[in-house]
Amino acid sequence: MCGIAGIYSNKAVASELYDSIIHLQHRGQDAAGIMTYDDRMHKEKGIGLAKEIFNSENMKLLSGNIGISHNRYPTHGGFSHGEVQPFWTSVPYGIALAHNGNITNYNEMADEVTQTENRYLNTTSDSEVLLHYFADQLHSNKPPKSSEKFFDILCDAVSNIFTNVQGAYSVVSLIIGKGLVVFRDPQGIRPLVKGQRTNSNGSKDYIFASENTMFYALGYEPTGTVLPGELIYVDEQGNIFNKRLVKTKFNPCIFEYVYFARPDSTLNDVSVYRSRLRMGQNLAKSWEKKYPDKTPDIVIPAPSTANTSALSFAHELGVRYSEGLYKNTFIGRTFIMPGQKERKKSVKYKLVPQELEIRDKKVLIMDDSIVRGNTSREIVRMLKDFGAKEVYFASACPPVKNPCFYGVDMPTKDELIAGNMTEDEISSYLDVDILLYQEIDDLVEAVKRKGNHHIDDPCMACLNGKYVANDIDDLKVAKIETMRIKDRNGA
Ligand code: SF4
Repeated sequence: MCGIAGIYSNKAVASELYDSIIHLQHRGQDAAGIMTYDDRMHKEKGIGLAKEIFNSENMKLLSGNIGISHNRYPTHGGFSHGEVQPFWTSVPYGIALAHNGNITNYNEMADEVTQTENRYLNTTSDSEVLLHYFADQLHSNKPPKSSEKFFDILCDAVSNIFTNVQGAYSVVSLIIGKGLVVFRDPQGIRPLVKGQRTNSNGSKDYIFASENTMFYALGYEPTGTVLPGELIYVDEQGNIFNKRLVKTKFNPCIFEYVYFARPDSTLNDVSVYRSRLRMGQNLAKSWEKKYPDKTPDIVIPAPSTANTSALSFAHELGVRYSEGLYKNTFIGRTFIMPGQKERKKSVKYKLVPQELEIRDKKVLIMDDSIVRGNTSREIVRMLKDFGAKEVYFASACPPVKNPCFYGVDMPTKDELIAGNMTEDEISSYLDVDILLYQEIDDLVEAVKRKGNHHIDDPCMACLNGKYVANDIDDLKVAKIETMRIKDRNGA
């Protein structure tokens, strides 16, 4: 998972791109980068958190009123400085690109770019392949004079991408002398929202980002979502062009609502916070149906993504909600860390149980999901160490059984607890008295119940094995999993 932002403004954009990275930091903590342009390209990238990479000195160099930014969380490629986005190429025009998602026909596209188009790939990143393929589509045309003509060329180029590049990709790109380009794959798997701001002289500024978390702080009004298969172009004068090049079903990632997105975001015109409240309500109804004679004394969220659904779950059952696990917020999100060793180590440092809230009580722990199961097991053990009488575990998400190939780090089926165990086996592994998972229909209902949205069927491939871009079969699963293990081991 990554965070991207692209801004066209009537004033310098660097500081707003920095603020965007800060507001999207939860989507990727490994690396970040900003590129802007005026008469030429300016870039600053680094490994680590945004606050560690950018300072007043290097920010001064990022001049220009058009720019893009990226927070990295690697799901493809290695971990070196060379893999940090945005990527750029000088031919044609000078193009920079930042991408959120995963390209599932990477090998075929890499062959096309290197062998047919004679371009050189510096990394194993799928985003670099996407950049070169995009550049090559534009290269075959003579530079046009008018923005209308350039938009026609962009439509052809991005249509070719939509036809030939498989998987998930939300993209922001800048093209020297031309402006800002934004597009989202035909299924709209990864999020991309938009906003605008009117200046005192009537001119308009535009922002596009993975989430609208920074809009209010920067003074932008949300104007909805970039639609699946849509291309948007803002030229250097601020004229805006858009076209939905492909119309298929809208299948945005449901896991954004479960875990990834910040609760204050509105994605695909659905409030993440409200959807999480509904997840808790639906799960509570399911609890009452299955366990009418069992009532927990207390509901404690595994902080902090599950706080919202735990709150509504407790409210629905008439049970006390407690923050009985204190989270040390100075330690990063464990799920997002590359490598199992760090993940395991950090749970105990991150969560501290409050004994008064736990001892002699029937405690229900609510988590957003159970992916690998290690964190859940350690939490249960901690609660028992602190004297819980009984421990129940509720997951706001159904069992995660399949790897994600669209940009979320669940690389191999072997690592997913529900990919290898039945619910009864998971319950014994976690050592809980009751384990309750959300039903798939209840999760979908929680996301789709309200909001003036256009979602058809959200992507739930990690839950039901249906890969919405029709691009994954068993052979491909094996290939991609092998590639990811190699990437991770630095082979
Ligand atoms: Fe999201 Fe799961 Fe689909 Fe991946 S497979 S895009 S995590 S819903």
